[in-house]
Amino acid sequence: MARRLYECVVCGRKFPQGQGVVIHKAGVTLYFHSNDCAAKFLRLLLERVDDSCVKGPLKEVLEELGESIKRRRESSRKVI
Ligand SMILES: [Zn+2]
Repeated sequence: MARRLYECVVCGRKFPQGQGVVIHKAGVTLYFHSNDCAAKFLRLLLERVDDSCVKGPLKEVLEELGESIKRRRESSRKVI
């Protein structure tokens, strides 16, 4: 069975379902054929978002990822 093709919103390249990056947000589905295109879109989006809107969520995500890094480091230390 042929897999569905998506079109990258950044460069227009087509890619099969199961590859690339697909994000659903605010009733919109975003398709990116590569991480580079997703990063380019993120940069463009963040340039347009007001600092006061993004500051809270930005700190939350950084804290969450920071905790995750800490946990990973602690668990790898236990193995050694
Ligand atoms: Zn692309």
